[in-house]
Amino acid sequence: MRDKPSPSLRRRRTYLLRQLPPPQAILRGSLIERYKRCGKPGCKCATGRGHGPKHYLSISHTGEHPQMDYVPQTQVEQVREYLVNYQRTREILEEICTINRELLRRRERL
Ligand SMILES: [Zn+2]
Repeated sequence: MRDKPSPSLRRRRTYLLRQLPPPQAILRGSLIERYKRCGKPGCKCATGRGHGPKHYLSISHTGEHPQMDYVPQTQVEQVREYLVNYQRTREILEEICTINRELLRRRERL
C-alpha cells in the first residue's frame, strides 16, 4: 500500500467498488447445524445423533447471549450466500478505508 503510486490506489478502489456484493443481500452471523431427538419411543433417532440437520442463524450482540433463528432448509443456501456477502463487504470496505487513509496521509485529494 505504502509503496504504490496514488493512481494505482485509486484504480484499486474503483475495482473494489465493483466487487461489492448487492448491499441488500447480506446477513451477519453464522449458520449452525443441530440434530434433535424427537423423544418418540422406538424412533431410530434415540440411538443415533437425532433428526436433522436443522439450521439456525446465530447472531451475537456484545454482552448478550447469541440469538438463534430457525432457517428453513429451502433458504439455507441463500443464507449461506448472504453470510459470505457480508464478510466480503466488510473486507472491501476495510480496504477502501485503508486506501483513503493512505491518500489522506499523502495530503492528496480523496
Ligand atoms: Zn426421532
